[in-house]
Amino acid sequence: MEMECLRTQATVSAMHDGEHVTDENAEAARAHIAECGPCRSFEADLDRLADLSGPAAPDGLVDRVMVAVAAIAAERVADEQVSAVAEMPAILKEEPASPRFTWFTERTRLGVYGAMAVAASVLVLVAMLSLRGPGTPPATESSTATNSAGSADLTFSGKTATAPVTAAPAPTPAPASAPDYVTFKERVYAPSALLADSTVATPSLGTVSTAFASAASPSQVPAYRSPVADGSIVIKGPDGARVYVPVFRMFNSTKYQMVAGNAVDRFGTWPELPSRFPAPSSPNGSPTFTAAGSDALGVRIYTARDVPQAQGFAIAPGTPGTDPAGSNPNWTWWEPLQMP
Ligand SMILES: [Zn+2]
Repeated sequence: MEMECLRTQATVSAMHDGEHVTDENAEAARAHIAECGPCRSFEADLDRLADLSGPAAPDGLVDRVMVAVAAIAAERVADEQVSAVAEMPAILKEEPASPRFTWFTERTRLGVYGAMAVAASVLVLVAMLSLRGPGTPPATESSTATNSAGSADLTFSGKTATAPVTAAPAPTPAPASAPDYVTFKERVYAPSALLADSTVATPSLGTVSTAFASAASPSQVPAYRSPVADGSIVIKGPDGARVYVPVFRMFNSTKYQMVAGNAVDRFGTWPELPSRFPAPSSPNGSPTFTAAGSDALGVRIYTARDVPQAQGFAIAPGTPGTDPAGSNPNWTWWEPLQMP
């Protein structure tokens, strides 16, 4: 597909989702649609989709939107690849767990949330694709925070249109599938930056079972010690050596990482509670958990009988997509971060 088609279809998707699109982008899209059959039928598909009462999408539409979004993500990456690659070794030479690297990984996470607003109808797909990108649009720390709080950043060829998100971030409906998590020793990690120099990741820590964002059968791949002492690991996948950062939340100034009882090794699998905790039968956590305070984000945390709160706590299902737990439909369990 031509880049112009990809841009047009991303713009049309955004407009269909009621998002703000700059006049310039809208005009460019209309002009392109007037002379492009495939893009006309793409728009017609979206119209049909809007008329459907059920959640079914016309054949091939989801794939095409995914391709469009992937191309936009790839374009962003291409724009920044040079600086990112040049920057990476310098980052790695800094003190372990330097604020700069922390900021980098958090920015990657925030980029996911920004991307989610680009096409709400393919919210999950967008998140997954964005997670794979090694870079996110350059932004100052303050503007990043603003973006994550309430605006969508649509970047096409360096032109940025910041659109206010009108709806309050109401509880996000649980998406059909999860981000590209992996688990290592039952702890949950999310993909972050690609390493420019894979030789910095040594030695091997053990193996991870993963299908690398595909629905195929998982395979056993080695996990390496990360060059950064922030709890991350490195996994060499199809596109190179990638840092996987711990999925964590803050409580009492301590990082708590998500711990999964199930094998999160296929595309879209949500982490579940460790098997020693029976799933609560009540929304208030009983009989397994008891509500006890809240974490640094103000999210209620639940303690388990016989487990001191400092050693672990649970989070209820249905957190917003922006929460570290994502919109996981299951209860999740969190324990103090450990260096792998
Ligand atoms: Zn086209």
